[in-house]
Amino acid sequence: MRWLECRHCRNRFREHQNHARSCQYHPGVYTLACPKTCPFHGNKPDSVRCLSHYRTRWSCCESLAEGEFGNTGCDYRWHLPLETDRPYRAQHEQHHEEEERAATELRLVKADATKWVRKARRVRIEGIKDIVEERKVEHEDASRYENIKWA
Ligand SMILES: [Zn+2]
Ligand SMILES: [Zn+2]
Ligand SMILES: [Zn+2]
Repeated sequence: MRWLECRHCRNRFREHQNHARSCQYHPGVYTLACPKTCPFHGNKPDSVRCLSHYRTRWSCCESLAEGEFGNTGCDYRWHLPLETDRPYRAQHEQHHEEEERAATELRLVKADATKWVRKARRVRIEGIKDIVEERKVEHEDASRYENIKWA
């Protein structure tokens, strides 16, 4: 089991350790807002009454601390591996390898078939040559007999 890196929190984790509450994060947005207790919350802030609390805060929990990669998060979720990490890449590479192997096998089969065709052709040519040779021998034999004078 190798270590994976979470694309959300940047923490390293192992596949079997990943669960629904392993990755800390904020489900909301970090934006300028009044707290929910303020009557101006969700509206334009009052220039005087909201001066002290109109801050950048998380909309989910009102936390003022932005944090890094969700380390101040108020909720949890599954870690999500980087796209460059397994299993996408591993599967893709395996798939690619299989395609390569199939292509190589096909090339070998084709080459083998070509070789067999050539061999068969050569056998046929040699067979014909043999027949020609045989005929020549027969012919020579015949001509030898031709010169025999039958007294
Ligand atoms: Zn939050
Ligand atoms: Zn306010
Ligand atoms: Zn994570």
